[in-house]
Amino acid sequence: MPGDAGGRHAGGPGGLNPPASVTDPPAIELRGISKSFGPVRANDEVSFSVPKGTIHGIIGENGAGKSTLMSILYGFYRADQGEILVHGRPTALPDSLSAIRAGIGMVFQHFKLVQNFTVLENVILGAEDGPLLGRSLRRARDSLTALAREYGLEVDPDALVEDLSVGHQQRVEILKALWRNADILILDEPTGVLTPPEANHLFRILKGLRDQGKTILLITHKLREIMEATDTVSVMRRGRLVGTLRTATTSPARLAELMVGRKVLLETVKAPARPGPILLSAENLTLQDEHGVERLKSVSLTLRAGEILGIAGVAGNGQSELLSILGGMTRPGEKVSGRLTLKGRDLPLSGRGADGKSRRQAGIGHVPEDRQNAGLILDFTAWENTALGYDDDPAWARGFLTDNQAIRDDTARKMQTWDIRPPIHTLAAKSFSGGNQQKLVIAREFEQDPDILLIGQPTRGVDIGAIEFIHKQIIALRDQGKAILLVSVELDEIMSLSDRIAVMFDGRIMGERDPATTSEGDIGCLMAGIAPARIPEQTPPGPTAEAP
Ligand code: ADP
Ligand code: MG
Repeated sequence: MPGDAGGRHAGGPGGLNPPASVTDPPAIELRGISKSFGPVRANDEVSFSVPKGTIHGIIGENGAGKSTLMSILYGFYRADQGEILVHGRPTALPDSLSAIRAGIGMVFQHFKLVQNFTVLENVILGAEDGPLLGRSLRRARDSLTALAREYGLEVDPDALVEDLSVGHQQRVEILKALWRNADILILDEPTGVLTPPEANHLFRILKGLRDQGKTILLITHKLREIMEATDTVSVMRRGRLVGTLRTATTSPARLAELMVGRKVLLETVKAPARPGPILLSAENLTLQDEHGVERLKSVSLTLRAGEILGIAGVAGNGQSELLSILGGMTRPGEKVSGRLTLKGRDLPLSGRGADGKSRRQAGIGHVPEDRQNAGLILDFTAWENTALGYDDDPAWARGFLTDNQAIRDDTARKMQTWDIRPPIHTLAAKSFSGGNQQKLVIAREFEQDPDILLIGQPTRGVDIGAIEFIHKQIIALRDQGKAILLVSVELDEIMSLSDRIAVMFDGRIMGERDPATTSEGDIGCLMAGIAPARIPEQTPPGPTAEAP
């Protein structure tokens, strides 16, 4: 109900003058919400309330139950138990329409916009009972422009959605919710698709909305975002609510501890590398895609036992192509040239023997960047995925057949060792959260004891508890003398794990750096394709410099 009885400046009787937030009922109150999916208790007696006109964060590891809870609030799922109060009134939310009527809007992570419609068309699409039913498109455009201006969400109403950046598409999603009179907005991991400046812009928009009296629920697993953007925060762990805190009086370390259930190292600890002999050597690797575009341009590198070579770069500068050549995952139509040797022996770059399985047999494990399409078969169970690429491992052979029971037992053990949740090996891979899917792939590849491990984006979409764990395992593998090639778009990750850093730009290696003596600024320049200023060759060397 708009208007809300002027609660913002309601002064209490008797000169007590309580703040508005005391007199207003909470915008949202959850009481004892529970929800199970088969054996998985995704939400377990969750209760908290969110004061009106605040930004409330919900943080928790992958699989903690955040999205389930928000789906219940938006009428996608029905709770098995519990009660929801919206502005103090018990409210049934059997479907999204009821949620929209109750003033709850969802900003989807995977946008549900129609790409070849304009912004205006997308916003008014399906809002039959919006306030502007029957008005002309022109007046709708004026109203949309006014709405956008009011909340600092400037987008061109006539632009085609397909021409907008991801950040702008997200603004359209927010506008769409506001158009439907939402005064409570849910954003589930909204920055996963944004660059850092876009994320900062989003937070400014959210603060503006809050200052106009809207209530925001911001789901994220990033501590920095909670600290920066929220007023209060609820922490979830394994389906339960473990605490609701005021952001101003908590710290990232405290939140991390609540999320994970123990103290978490937010910094990586590692001993200096003790590099051994060169195991893998690539010379002049080139890849032309099916359209004849050169994606990889004469890349050469060496990888030694006992070291982590980090490949830094903005996504799309040839890192994926490099991994696909090394891991034997090039696609038909791609042309590859150059030379690749493993312990001095040539490896085929295309055709027979250049597939993932042959590479694994040769001792090159691979955690692919795209775990959902290349790392796992999502419809297969966890245990079937454990054997993927290794199905003729002698440990699992029984005559000519595969010993499925042995694989199942092995998967059950891996699920314990690697803390994969839920530890149910008969569950399809798609039923696990991103972090747990990643652990399934990592457990499979790391435990095969490869000499060389290719690791692409190991912690993408993974929460801090799992990040700490994965980072420790990568370092442990290095310390066992394995050679590790790490590709990541997270510069922090590259800086903290690598023993050497190579930076890729436009299909080339722009330069190589020692993380101990370089800076993020220096790496950032290489990532942008800017080669460092060289000392001109003619400059006479100083007395101590320029040792060969
Ligand atoms: P979060 O958003 O915190 O990562 P989710 O709410 O997505 O967590 O998931 C909580 C738990 O519920 C996870 O174990 C997940 O595998 C399970 N889960 C979520 N949705 C479904 C579903 N539709 N079917 C079966 N299990 C599900
Ligand atoms: Mg989620």
